[in-house]
Amino acid sequence: MKLTFLLHAVLSVGLVSSVTLSALPTHAQTPQNSPTSLEISTDTHESFSLTIPPLGSTSNAQQRENRLMSHSELNPTGRFVKTGTQLTIEVTSEPNTELFLGIGMKGVYTDLNTGKDTGITTHPLNPGKNLVTSSVDGMVYLINRSDSLTSKATITGGTPAPFFRLHETSENDWQTMLNTRGNSLFTEIQGDRTFLTIRTDLVKKHLKKPAAELVSYFDTVVKLTNEVYGLQDNATGVAHKQKHRIHLATPDTGGGYAHATNGHLGFMTSTGAATDLLRGNIADQWGLWHEIGHTYQTPQYRWDGLGEVTVNISSLYVQEKLGYPNRLSSRKADIKNFLSQVQNGRTYDEENDLFVKLGLFEQLRIAYGDNFFPRLSQEYRVHNALHQSESNTSTQQQQLILNASRVAQRDLSTYFKNWGLTVSAETAQKLAEFPLSQFPFGTISFQIKRLLTALSPNIHFHEDPSTPHHTLSS
Ligand SMILES: [Zn+2]
Repeated sequence: MKLTFLLHAVLSVGLVSSVTLSALPTHAQTPQNSPTSLEISTDTHESFSLTIPPLGSTSNAQQRENRLMSHSELNPTGRFVKTGTQLTIEVTSEPNTELFLGIGMKGVYTDLNTGKDTGITTHPLNPGKNLVTSSVDGMVYLINRSDSLTSKATITGGTPAPFFRLHETSENDWQTMLNTRGNSLFTEIQGDRTFLTIRTDLVKKHLKKPAAELVSYFDTVVKLTNEVYGLQDNATGVAHKQKHRIHLATPDTGGGYAHATNGHLGFMTSTGAATDLLRGNIADQWGLWHEIGHTYQTPQYRWDGLGEVTVNISSLYVQEKLGYPNRLSSRKADIKNFLSQVQNGRTYDEENDLFVKLGLFEQLRIAYGDNFFPRLSQEYRVHNALHQSESNTSTQQQQLILNASRVAQRDLSTYFKNWGLTVSAETAQKLAEFPLSQFPFGTISFQIKRLLTALSPNIHFHEDPSTPHHTLSS
């Protein structure tokens, strides 16, 4: 089953990969697969019922989508419990060995679990009545790791939490919940692609906009990030984005201003990141774009020194699509300076400025358009599915040069050399099948000029890969 699926994915991609830059392989599926109809739920003060579709394991999805970190398997239920609380879970669907109750929090909270990070404790659920006494303090979730079985469960007990669900909860009901359920320490706000777990008092104090607007904004950032990586809700094969949500957690303390890890993102209260999230769509929301970006980074071009570089390929895209000025536009002088040093022997790997290094990637998007990274990502996903990924820095660099050239249908060796990367003789030979890029990377000065021009709005330079160039630029 799995092999067939994979083979189909590879074949369907392989057929179109060298045809055009402008269209990604899309295979329409039935509309009920849209993320807005993930599950059916009923929420009352006494109990919460949820029908959860099978989305499979988050690590399998991560692997197939070729992303750095897994997304969340948790389905919020709007219940909060303290240690020792008994919950009743009635499972009314067929036996599913991959159905679990999850209880806990992501990260450290001073007044929960004696200040320790307990993570999520899981309890298998059987058909019929299940009684679970919580061994931790935290929010209550349902988890369905099955690839094929839809499950249904009703949870009774615990403290009902203010719980906003996009498309289902009205702003009026939400405001009422914030009052009637205000004794729950935590609140959850759920969208199609994200959900936020946050202290109720922070929401009451700092959320100044409708909950639907806030969570729709989070969803939009994820949607844009999917876009730049060429992942689609309705695609089949490796370009399909599985509908696991991204969990925005808000621990009291933790590493950095905010951080990303498998299963959740942490936006700390202590650093102000938690309240910054509640400000929604503002120009300075880089932290959100960046942490989401980490979960999507392509592992095969994230060699030493690129961990905090390629993460921002999507941050820049999100920034631009939301209508804010491109952050690299203020770094042109530094990029120009670095590129002039390459002429005197400096290499890409010697550069420490993360935003200068990001220029190598952003310039490819500017040159070849918004379809460049979706196609490059798809190329890598196919290689990954065929176990053709490279694992060390020098082979990964050659693979990037090859794959980028293949996607552009141009020999980009000069471009990468100008950025201080080495093009091996073997790579150069493989690139001989492509015309040299007409995009004028030939001289540093022209390269800079193009970068400066392209970063200004409304001017884009696209090569048409479908038209062979008979006269090559020297
Ligand atoms: Zn980072």
